[in-house]
Amino acid sequence: MCPYCGVGCGLLVQVRGGQVTKVKGDPAHPANLGDICAKAVHLPPVLRTADRLLHPQVRRRRDGNLEGVPWELALRFTADRMREIVAAHGPDAVAFYASGQLLTEEYYVASKLARAGFGTNNFDTNSRLCMASAAAGYARSLGSDGPPATYADIDLADCFVLIGSNTADCHPVTFKRIRRRKREAPDDVTVIVVDPRWTETADVADLHLPIRPGSDIALLNAMLHVLWREDLLDPRFVADHTSGWERLLPVIERYPPERGAALTGLSSEIIVAAARRFGRARAALTLWSMGINQSHVGTDKNAAIINLHLATGQIGRPGAGPFSLTGQPNAMGGRETGGLAHLLPGYRLVADPDDRAVVERHWTIPVGSLPASPGRSALQIFEGLATGAVRAVWILCTNPAASMPDLDLVEKALRQADLVVVQDAYHPTETTRFADVLLPAAQWPEKAGVMTSSERRLTYLPKLVDPPGEALPDAVILTRFAREMGWKEMFPYESESEIFDELAALTAGRMCDYSGVSHMRLQSNGPLQWPAPAPDHPGTARLYTDGRFPTSGGRARLVPVEHEEPLEPADAGFPLTLTTGRVHDHWHTLTRTGKSPALRSRTPEPILEVNLRDARRASIQDGDFVEIASRRGKAVAQCRVSVAIREGTCFLPFHWGRQAGFYKSANNLTLGGRDPISHQPELKACAVRLRRVLS
Ligand code: SF4
Repeated sequence: MCPYCGVGCGLLVQVRGGQVTKVKGDPAHPANLGDICAKAVHLPPVLRTADRLLHPQVRRRRDGNLEGVPWELALRFTADRMREIVAAHGPDAVAFYASGQLLTEEYYVASKLARAGFGTNNFDTNSRLCMASAAAGYARSLGSDGPPATYADIDLADCFVLIGSNTADCHPVTFKRIRRRKREAPDDVTVIVVDPRWTETADVADLHLPIRPGSDIALLNAMLHVLWREDLLDPRFVADHTSGWERLLPVIERYPPERGAALTGLSSEIIVAAARRFGRARAALTLWSMGINQSHVGTDKNAAIINLHLATGQIGRPGAGPFSLTGQPNAMGGRETGGLAHLLPGYRLVADPDDRAVVERHWTIPVGSLPASPGRSALQIFEGLATGAVRAVWILCTNPAASMPDLDLVEKALRQADLVVVQDAYHPTETTRFADVLLPAAQWPEKAGVMTSSERRLTYLPKLVDPPGEALPDAVILTRFAREMGWKEMFPYESESEIFDELAALTAGRMCDYSGVSHMRLQSNGPLQWPAPAPDHPGTARLYTDGRFPTSGGRARLVPVEHEEPLEPADAGFPLTLTTGRVHDHWHTLTRTGKSPALRSRTPEPILEVNLRDARRASIQDGDFVEIASRRGKAVAQCRVSVAIREGTCFLPFHWGRQAGFYKSANNLTLGGRDPISHQPELKACAVRLRRVLS
């Protein structure tokens, strides 16, 4: 499986002389049917680079240099420092920050290490920047996390709503499948794209809605208003399978299309047209990603999408459903293992005493020993480091000093920490520069384990080559460290499959039940979708086909939600709204794609997209270098002036961190304001002003 995005494409990998030499799509993998995108094609040159981290390194004094040490010494040094910090400040002075690119087994061991070993729930991941709002949205509306639909639904849907998702760039193989469906039945299939930018995704759109950033709830509520007014709801589904219509209706009544138009900047006609196409569809599929989730009302935006599907009965049947597109390859697996600060494995909650008791029994630790309060979410970890409430952070497989909002705060946090442990495949990165302990990690495909894609599909990733130098799989590093701490009984693992089996047993009876799955089964029979609760269970393509939801009454919840303006609206001083995102050829913070000559030459620098009218007002011309300033910092980029982006909005990709050039980083500008439920930061909207610096 590809180590990049949540599409989870199956790959055929050629290995020669112990090196990956070629990557192709696997025609037998149901996620991609042989297709892949450029990022996967260009994997071979980015795996063995001069900046691979080959040996453990330790900085004994904060003002000293990193020096190479044997593994035993690095782990002993880390264990000693951790013990001192816990003794002086308590277990919550320690935090772990992990990644949706870890394998499920690695995630699980790290989560267990934090919670059962250290006794802290300060275990969070970069999924917090990615899918936390979707996870919270599903749980609130449907009773559990877990996307209900499957990629095969793309071939069956006759209405697509792509909202807050530049699918063509961010999930290219999924996009090609949508485009194929549209081309095969152009008159029967409608594609609605909601995005302030006209991207390649919009090229297939029947309706493009260039919405004002942050106003998705107003649009979705107005669409639901039209469906209600025009009798396009499914009253039987609402009556039999949902609760809350009586509370939702008074809210929906307040969103006629005219009000929706005023709030979104769209015309009321296009809102009505979109609603009618959705309402008359045989099977409607809504796909979304960060444009919805990275918002201070991200969980509410998810509710508004799910409301639309519940009220029209567009869920749990072929071609229909709300379907979040996960950013990272194993962000789903992370959630299954308890990879957010409020979760325990198997979609259980830290705050639920019964859930804690189940996990305590499974881990054979004393009842009552797991901490009962949710830990710090991603930004709270770094805020805690900055204030001294958190003293040590262990960062695995991610680069927060480039990917977090408000980088000045993140750098201050890492500078002030008593101990920064970074486990990574590469050095230097923006984050490893701050490390006191650097642990060399194996990466794809130097280790074995499982990942779960956006459609709940588990794929086994075999180890194909040896890691370079002394690099080790993350699960091995964590297990060795746990033993150094004296926790061997809790961490007895000798293989990845043992770890997987322990987790799989803990998922029994949960929505994400894969107690019928093992490494052996995935290796022999190929990928499959959970729930798969028994060894002979074939897996589950689609959730909620019987209209029963995992809530106390078995009904999905219609959740009334209201439009709110972005946290930092544009004003006279900062007149534009900046939105950030990905480009087709790069992945996250460039630690891999930035090393591919082919990908780098296609997209060498960040380009700022600006609307023609905004450019004229700021005396900026196409190709000028422009300073972008927010209340937190500045960035500089060459600009592309066009009408492909909505007036009042500009776009800057976030891939470039400060290592690429201090002023290339979009996260110099973004703000740390966040959703109160999901704690996901509002990376998609902050107020900026532009100034030409060079023609
Ligand atoms: S679409 Fe995503 S999973 Fe598929 S090859 Fe491209 S990056 Fe990899």
